[in-house]
Amino acid sequence: MKFCSECATPVEWTTPEGDHLPRHVCPNCETIFYSNPRIIAGCLPIWEDKVLMCRRNIEPRKNYWTLPAGFMENGETTEQGAMRETWEEAEAEVDIISLYTHTSIVHVNQLQLFFLAKMRTPNFSTTSESNEVALFSEDEIPWDEIAFPTVTNALRLFFKERRSGGPFNFHRISIDRHNEQNNASTTQHEIRI
Ligand code: ZN
Repeated sequence: MKFCSECATPVEWTTPEGDHLPRHVCPNCETIFYSNPRIIAGCLPIWEDKVLMCRRNIEPRKNYWTLPAGFMENGETTEQGAMRETWEEAEAEVDIISLYTHTSIVHVNQLQLFFLAKMRTPNFSTTSESNEVALFSEDEIPWDEIAFPTVTNALRLFFKERRSGGPFNFHRISIDRHNEQNNASTTQHEIRI
């Protein structure tokens, strides 16, 4: 950021009085511009013994498989964001069961949330964002072609818990590649459905 979006004065990088971190601050109108982590919400859509996955038609990780997910929009809940992304990426309608994985990815300033969700019907479609959409059973999952580690992680947890006959747990994960002390710690508690 170079200029104030309120008055177009060049901004300064300085710690505001009473704050503990440097921010972009306008020396003219005194507006402080905060930069905070972004929230990505998505679904692990379930139909019978299968899960719905999308092959990305967009960068990054084009042509790799993912669960439908994306950045939250203003004015929506995390659940609405996850359902909207599932429609936009796969034209699938789902009902949210529960939050399943909550992953703080510290080194990229993201929070990723995956919800367990039931598909209302087995209908889905390719979209501008997904060049292929498909239901996979556990042994059909293209494990070597998954776009993001958080997706692999959610799928592995889901199939492991289902194989064991449940219960499903809520998983709280943090990943920080800049701090190996804190690499992928996990806590969990039971989800009652
Ligand atoms: Zn200004």
